[in-house]
Amino acid sequence: MNISLPQPTITPISQPFWDYIQEKKFYLQCCQDCHKWVFYPRAHCPDCFGSDLKWQAASGNGKLTTWSVVHRAGHPAWQERAPYVVGIVELEEGPSLLTHLLIDEQDLYYQLPVEINFQSINGFLLPFFQEKGVRV
Ligand SMILES: [Zn+2]
Repeated sequence: MNISLPQPTITPISQPFWDYIQEKKFYLQCCQDCHKWVFYPRAHCPDCFGSDLKWQAASGNGKLTTWSVVHRAGHPAWQERAPYVVGIVELEEGPSLLTHLLIDEQDLYYQLPVEINFQSINGFLLPFFQEKGVRV
C-alpha cells in the first residue's frame, strides 16, 4: 500500500508563504499600519484590521512553548513516521505556529530555542523546526 502524504491546503492568500518555503525562505506577512507580524496568512491584520500586509523575511527563530508526541497519526500516510513530535513555536517576530519538531522527546523543554529546518516530504518542502544550533 502506498498512501501519499497530504499536502497543505494552499489558498490564494497563503500561496506566497508556500512559494517562499519551496525556495527555503521563511517569509511572513507584516502589517504596514501597526508593524505587527502576522501568521497564519490573512487578508487583514488581526490586530488593527488593516489590509496593507507585506511579505517580509522572518528570522526562522523561536522558542518552544508546548509539544506533543504523536503515536497515532491523524492521517494514515503519517503513521509510518510515528512516533513524531509536533509543537507550538513562538516566533521571534511574535506569532506562533504549529510545526513538526526534529528534536528527541527527552530533549524538549519549555522555551527551548529552535530554528527552522526545511524538510522535503514527497518533494514538497515543509517548515519543520529543530533545536537551535544543533546539527540534525
Ligand atoms: Zn496591523
